[in-house]
Amino acid sequence: MHLSLVIPCYNEEESLPALFSALDGAVEDLIRRGHTVEVIIVDDGSRDRSAQLLREATTSRPWLQAIRLSRNFGQTAALAAGFSEATGEVIIPLDADMQNDPMDIPLLLSKLEEGFDVVSGWRHRRQDARLTRILPSAVANWLISRVSGVALHDYGCTLKAYRREVLRDVHLYGEMHRFIPIYAAWHGARVTEIPVRHHPRRAGKTKYGLGRVPRVLLDLLWVRFFWFYGTRPLHAFGMFGLLNIGLALLCFLLMVWFKYWGGKTFIQTPLPQLVVTLFGMGCLSILMGFLAEILMRTYHEAAGQPTFVVRERYLNGQAQPAGPLGRR
Ligand code: UDP
Ligand code: MG
Repeated sequence: MHLSLVIPCYNEEESLPALFSALDGAVEDLIRRGHTVEVIIVDDGSRDRSAQLLREATTSRPWLQAIRLSRNFGQTAALAAGFSEATGEVIIPLDADMQNDPMDIPLLLSKLEEGFDVVSGWRHRRQDARLTRILPSAVANWLISRVSGVALHDYGCTLKAYRREVLRDVHLYGEMHRFIPIYAAWHGARVTEIPVRHHPRRAGKTKYGLGRVPRVLLDLLWVRFFWFYGTRPLHAFGMFGLLNIGLALLCFLLMVWFKYWGGKTFIQTPLPQLVVTLFGMGCLSILMGFLAEILMRTYHEAAGQPTFVVRERYLNGQAQPAGPLGRR
């Protein structure tokens, strides 16, 4: 198989020498197993000597390619940059800090060969700070599994293997690289996981702490919304709008009842304000739904994006594969 390893790198000068020698070994091993390999390291606007080390490393390694982004865009964008350059049938992201072990790649590949489209690494003995990293991540993984219906133990592990088709239509924003297996599963891909090794960070510092938690939660909300209502936003906005208008009507009836039978004038209750606010919110929400609907249709029609996914077609009794996630 033709493999692309994609490695995001931000201020990792202390880890890079070890990474290069690990890659030398891993690439040689993969080639011996009959694969062809390219390695794409994306320098995410490092301010240390990473870029220089990368350039030097490419001189003696024909399989290595380095891309330098103009500034720090974040791990997700760095991965997206690497994916867009990758030519492999199988694309394998991993970290530059040597916390993932490139020697696990054959393990991932053997799972792919069993017929899966995505194999997710699971750092079952994760070597990070317990309180600030492992605990929030355990809660997040549980929540993401519940919300997405795709049961994985470790979305955050960078080391995963994707068949090329899976990544074809995936656009990455925010902190969303962890959600690729979810997109893929929703589009019909077969997703599985295997335990992989995880090493403590030996050099340099982690780029993340607790600040990541709210961002991942917001991204999760968005992913859920987009999946359920991406092609029919009016239903989401409209339901919320109708609910508000219904409540406004209820408040209005209560207000009238109080005036004529309950012995309270309009201004003795907060109901008039509620009627106006709820009714206004309801109308606005429905109008926003129309706007969202126009945007959605513009997107699908202008980009020629269908609202469905084809897996196979049958002609003369023969199945014609369109790739695992073929959308043509
Ligand atoms: N990284 C990146 N851009 C960033 C932050 C991180 O490319 O803005 C890279 C980093 O160099 C590393 C990987 O993403 O290769 C994971 O980062 P880190 O090791 O800090 O995260 P952790 O392993 O602690 O979750
Ligand atoms: Mg790390």
